Amino acid sequence: MQKQSSFEQTGGKLYLVPTPIGNLEDITIRAKKVLQNADYIACEDTRTSGVLLKAIGVHNKLLSFHKYNSEARAPELVKMMQEGAVIAEISDAGMPVISDPGFILVQACIEAQVPVVPLPGPSAFATAVIASGFDAQPMTYYGFLPRKASEQRPYFEQMNQFQGTSIFYEAPHRLRKTVANMAKIFAPDRQICLARELTKVHEEFLRGNLEEINDYFQDHDPRGEYVVLVSPAAEKTQTISWPDLFEQVDQLVATGNSKKDAIKAVAKQAGISKNQLYDRYHERQA
Ligand code: SAM
Repeated sequence: MQKQSSFEQTGGKLYLVPTPIGNLEDITIRAKKVLQNADYIACEDTRTSGVLLKAIGVHNKLLSFHKYNSEARAPELVKMMQEGAVIAEISDAGMPVISDPGFILVQACIEAQVPVVPLPGPSAFATAVIASGFDAQPMTYYGFLPRKASEQRPYFEQMNQFQGTSIFYEAPHRLRKTVANMAKIFAPDRQICLARELTKVHEEFLRGNLEEINDYFQDHDPRGEYVVLVSPAAEKTQTISWPDLFEQVDQLVATGNSKKDAIKAVAKQAGISKNQLYDRYHERQA
């Protein structure tokens, strides 16, 4: 067991400092103070953070710490903190560690018994969920999903069953494809919320069912930064029994229906996507 009393120890420590996700006024008074008083600020990109720090009036020494150098850099930073340095870590935007570098450094500090002091502040997923209209308890945050449809599929299957809100980040140039991939797994009436450009002038929420959102992107290009939220599964999807559904399809086929019509009817009845049942049904036969 290890006990950390964040403010009883003097000397080196790591502050994890959230920065605005768009609106510069979202920097907190405490964050500014910590950034100003630290010995160093470890940044993902010193140029990006340089602009932010200048805008909020913080002038301090910057160190580079990003996903490509974090393994090598973490022990160096830990050594500096063991020798008494106070380091404030920031990412390009939002919370360090949340789909951003920082985790390796936090682990290394804990290992070396260097205090890790987190500051509260902006994060895109938490900002999105409170305005989504979906219950935030329980929720699952996935960060970025894999890019390939085949690798996204198990995540969507999990979200499809989850009786809580599922949240993930997606890049604008991949969003249309990802929404189309979702339509292969979720029922068309599953409620979705897309939170775009949070805290910025073009902040926008698209709330609707999956079919509507998918249609919308046929003639609208996704632009800016997005958080994708999937509403909790209704209770009935929790009890999907694939063998039962296959049997229902077989029975309909045996009574003269085409396989396509049988799958469509059974999927509709079960409240799941016909494509998902189609894929599962044929996988079983393969
Ligand atoms: N550390 C950040 C946080 O705490 O939210 C996340 C960094 S991650 C590299 C960047 C992704 O977060 C973007 O691709 C987007 O999906 C999401 N994001 C960041 N800022 C956003 C904003 N203002 N509006 C919507 N999504 C945002």
